[in-house]
Amino acid sequence: MPAECRHVDQVRNVTPQTPEGCEECLKSGDTWVQLRECLVCGHIGCCDSSKNKHATQHFHATRHPVMRSYRSGDDWAWCYVDEQYLRPVPQPRAA
Ligand SMILES: [Zn+2]
Ligand SMILES: [Zn+2]
Ligand SMILES: [Zn+2]
Repeated sequence: MPAECRHVDQVRNVTPQTPEGCEECLKSGDTWVQLRECLVCGHIGCCDSSKNKHATQHFHATRHPVMRSYRSGDDWAWCYVDEQYLRPVPQPRAA
C-alpha cells in the first residue's frame, strides 16, 4: 500500500462551479474526454486524456491536490501530489 494521503485534509464540501463541463473548454469552445472535479474549490476541468488537460493545469495553477472523477457511478479521486488513487472518494471532515 502507498503511504496514506494527507491531502484529504484539504477536501471541502464543494459545489461544482460549471456542472455542464470543463470551465476553460466551455469558454474556448473545446471538447473533452472525461472531467475531474476539484475537491478543494469545485473547479471542473478536463482529464489527462483530453487534449487540454485543464484539471492538471488547475493543480499546477492552484496547488489544489485532490480531484475526483466527475462522472456518475465513479467513486475514486486522484491526488496529484502523491500520484495515487483514493477510493472511495474522500469526504470533508466534520467541522
Ligand atoms: Zn495526497
Ligand atoms: Zn478543459
Ligand atoms: Zn481547485
